[in-house]
Amino acid sequence: MSPRTLSPDNYPLPDARGRFGPYGGQFVPETLMPALAELERAYAEAKADPAFWAELDDLFRTYVGRPTPVTYARRLSKHLGGAQIYLKREDLAHSGAHKINNALGQALLVKRMGKQRIVAETGAGQHGVATATAAALLGIECVVYMGTVDMARQQPNVFRMKLLGTEVRGVDSGSKTLKDAINEAIRDWVTNVETTHYLLGSALGPHPYPMMVRDFQRVIGLEAREQMLAQAGRLPDAIVACVGGGSNAIGIFHPFLDDEGVRLIGVEAGGLGIETGMHAARFADPERSRLGVLQGVKSYVMQDEHGQIALTHSISAGLDYASVGPEHAWLRDLGRAEYTYCTDDQALEGFKLLAQLEGIIPALESAHAVGHVLDLAPTMPKDSIILVNLSGRGDKDLDTVMKALAR
Ligand SMILES: *Cc1c(COP(=O)(O)O)cnc(C)c1O
Repeated sequence: MSPRTLSPDNYPLPDARGRFGPYGGQFVPETLMPALAELERAYAEAKADPAFWAELDDLFRTYVGRPTPVTYARRLSKHLGGAQIYLKREDLAHSGAHKINNALGQALLVKRMGKQRIVAETGAGQHGVATATAAALLGIECVVYMGTVDMARQQPNVFRMKLLGTEVRGVDSGSKTLKDAINEAIRDWVTNVETTHYLLGSALGPHPYPMMVRDFQRVIGLEAREQMLAQAGRLPDAIVACVGGGSNAIGIFHPFLDDEGVRLIGVEAGGLGIETGMHAARFADPERSRLGVLQGVKSYVMQDEHGQIALTHSISAGLDYASVGPEHAWLRDLGRAEYTYCTDDQALEGFKLLAQLEGIIPALESAHAVGHVLDLAPTMPKDSIILVNLSGRGDKDLDTVMKALAR
């Protein structure tokens, strides 16, 4: 991928205020505004500099192992008896998921800004591990905040981060989970803004994060576009990706926005079913999900009648979040992308089938995209094509799956 194509210079969104239609923006306390303004300036300069993209492209090729392959899922396609299914293999990226693309992009920006320190928060630990990896590679000090409840649940990832030289700070306030860790990470950033960058892990948060994270993840779609033309001789009829905050989905969707024949389908976590309220399907449950502000950005937010953030549920930690990236909300309004959901049970079906028919153990997040394809593919003709973004590998989920299958 040439630096020229990696650099996303011709796309008009977000607007100057960081809005995607009515979504996005910067809903943060005054104390954060200078830090965001500095970040906006630094990223605008980097974005316009071919040398920045050349350096990122070099890391993508020589460290991450990009381009990740596209695999034709022959046996799964035959089994479902409809569309031909292809997989974009982000599970083969170094550290096991797409998150490394964004972590490296922001870490390079940190170097450019002359800062020496990164703070981040993590829930399940996947974003913490990607950030710790990038920090180790580039020699940047790294502190990851994590709720103590999450630390107890995710010990292997805590150990991985420590091995990578990152300091993991347990957060013992509130519910001792992700949202408390976010508060602590932001407090640290504001206090140490001269030296420190806040490395956000999905297409979320105040402007410029949703744009910047998207730009770093676009490499997935840029590669996939070339690979589909080379391997299948044409573009797919549909692209399917799971949506937590929305970074892997926006990354693969974005280079296809102008290709009107390509359906873009985002899959949210349906948990135990929409009617139970135990899910994270922000677009599928108008009773529990409304326009609101969470983590500095306006988008759909799962909330109760008093506007308190609702408890969400998913078998996959990476999809278990109350809000969704603002650009997805806008693409949905425009009718350019469609959003559906996949329950825990259906995701487990997808997980098992992909393992048994293709020899690939997917992340539980990615298994939601596969789970939807089990329904979608049989409805499409045999000469049609679905491309699934396999956002990560399943090693981290073996314990969860073992327990779920034992029930
Ligand atoms: C974190 C994660 C996700 C969800 O995050 P997005 O920003 O929605 O992509 C999906 N898949 C994997 C493997 C993850 O680690």
